[in-house]
Amino acid sequence: TYVIAEPCIDVVDRACVEECPVDCIYEGARALYIHPDECVDCGACEPVCPVEAIFYEDDVPAAWSEFIADNARFFTEA
Ligand code: SF4
Repeated sequence: TYVIAEPCIDVVDRACVEECPVDCIYEGARALYIHPDECVDCGACEPVCPVEAIFYEDDVPAAWSEFIADNARFFTEA
């Protein structure tokens, strides 16, 4: 799955939402989140993010690794 990390917070540009072919990017209070079970790993969202907040899960910078769990938690607590 792809993951949205810290740069999205309070930016929420939504360019990725337009690109996602399976509509698996959802809006929270301060950021967007990718549903880990719905993402088909197409990569379409990553290059359109103006703040480079999107990473493949294995490529998330170490400083933002908690966002992998944060993206999943957003859906389990919803
Ligand atoms: Fe949607 Fe593809 Fe991005 Fe996954 S990688 S969130 S399916 S655009």
